[in-house]
Amino acid sequence: MMFCTSIHFSSDCFGCADELIANATYIGTPGKGILAADESTGTIGKRLSSINVENVESNRRALRELLFTTPGVLQYLSGVILYEETLYQKTAAGKPFVDVMKEGGVLPGIKVDKGTVELAGTNGETTTQGLDDLAQRCQKYYSAGARFAKWRAVLKIGPNEPSQLAINENANGLARYAIICQENGLVPIVEPEILVDGPHDIKKCADVTERVLAACYKALNDHHILLEGTLLKPNMVTPGSDAARVAPEVIAEHTVRALQRTMPAAVPAVVFLSGGQSEEEATVNLNAMNKLKTKKPWSLSFSYGRALQQSTLKAWSGKAENIPKAQTVFHARCKANSEATLGTYQGGAAMSEGASESLHVKDYKY
Ligand code: 13P
Repeated sequence: MMFCTSIHFSSDCFGCADELIANATYIGTPGKGILAADESTGTIGKRLSSINVENVESNRRALRELLFTTPGVLQYLSGVILYEETLYQKTAAGKPFVDVMKEGGVLPGIKVDKGTVELAGTNGETTTQGLDDLAQRCQKYYSAGARFAKWRAVLKIGPNEPSQLAINENANGLARYAIICQENGLVPIVEPEILVDGPHDIKKCADVTERVLAACYKALNDHHILLEGTLLKPNMVTPGSDAARVAPEVIAEHTVRALQRTMPAAVPAVVFLSGGQSEEEATVNLNAMNKLKTKKPWSLSFSYGRALQQSTLKAWSGKAENIPKAQTVFHARCKANSEATLGTYQGGAAMSEGASESLHVKDYKY
C-alpha cells in the first residue's frame, strides 16, 4: 500500500491519516503493549554498570537482541521503542532488529527528543529539546522502518510546581513534536511525565495530572493534531515516593478518573510509563485499572522501560550462558502485563529476583 507524504490530513489525503490511525489503533490492541527499550547511551550505561557490564556497542546490542528474540514474547507486544543506535542494529546472525519486529507483528518506534534543559527562573523545572531538525529525522527514521515516536516532557510536583510556565511550555512542545511526527508518517506518543518524587498525596497527584493533561489536549487541538493517530503515555496517579502507599484499586480509580476528565475519546489508547514502580506494582496497578467497571473509551496498556527489564537484566548479568534464564524472566513479565491489559492477571509473575524492588530514582533522566 502506498501512503501519500502530503502534510495535510484533509479529504484528499486519506493515505497518511489512515496509516496513522491504523498504527495507533494497532498499538492499543488489548493483550498487547509497548516495550520501552529506548534508553540513551548514557542511561543504558547506568543499567549495564549495575550488573558490571561495560557500556560498549556490542553489549548494548547483545542486551537488545536478548529482549527482541525471546521465544514467544512478541505476541505480547505491539511496539518497541528504540534509541537511534538500535534502530540500525542487527542480531548476531545478521538480521536487522526492525525485521525481527516486523515478522513478529511489532511496530518499531523511536525516541526523538534530545533530553531536557532547565527553564530559566523556575525551581529546576525543564523543557524538552529536539524540535529544530525533527522533520528530517522523522523522515530518516520512517525510511528505516519506524512507525511511531516518543518525546518525553517532564514535570514535577512541589510547593509551587508545576508552574504555569512549565505546563504551557511542555504542552506546546509536545504539540509541536506531535504535528511534525504526523506530517512525516510517525504516530506520536505524547508523554507528559509527572515525576513521582515528593511527599505529596494521591489527591495532589490527581489534581496536577488533570491540569497537565487538560493543557496538553488544549495544545494538541490548537495545533490541529489528528488525535486518532496519537497515543498518550502518562504517569499513573499515585502518592509521591515519600508518602504512604495506597492500594492498586485506589490508584486505578484516581488514574482513570483523571483520564476521563481530560482525555478525548478520539485517542485510541493510553500506554502508561512505569516511572520507578516495581515490576509487580506496575503490572498490578494496570490490571486494577482494566478491572475497574467504569467508562473507558480508550484501551489502557503499558509502555514500560524499567518495569519490563529490571529482573531480566539481573538474570542476564552480561553472561551468554544466562540468556535462556533471562529470556524466561522477560517472557513472564511481558505475559503478566499482557494479562493486565485485559484485567486477568492473577499474580505469580513476581517470583524472579528484583520483581518487587522499587525502581525509583530521584529526578530520573531518560
Ligand atoms: P519507565 O517505564 O522506566 O518509566 O520508562 C518508560 C519511558 O519510556 C519513559 O520515557
